[in-house]
Amino acid sequence: MATEPRFFCPSCKAAIDKPPQYQLLGDVARAGGDFILMGSSDAFQCPSCGFQILKQDIVSGKLDSPPGAPAKIRLSGQEIAGMIFLLGIAAFIIVRCAL
Ligand SMILES: [Zn+2]
Repeated sequence: MATEPRFFCPSCKAAIDKPPQYQLLGDVARAGGDFILMGSSDAFQCPSCGFQILKQDIVSGKLDSPPGAPAKIRLSGQEIAGMIFLLGIAAFIIVRCAL
């Protein structure tokens, strides 16, 4: 699964594009490899509020979800059934248009 290309400032909750090297480090960390944090500074400055965000928090994916939001969205059985129903209708329409 691809790394989330954005992370959120823990101070002002701004969505910040994750620099490619952080994405790479995150992938390496997830794969269980050792990784070295690049750059001379230990923190990434938020372009919005200037908050010093720890590189480890960015790399580990800890800030990939907005602060306070659940890490994973849980869908109820009813919602999943509704999505399957909608996908079925979409497939039906596509087949009808293709004929
Ligand atoms: Zn900020």
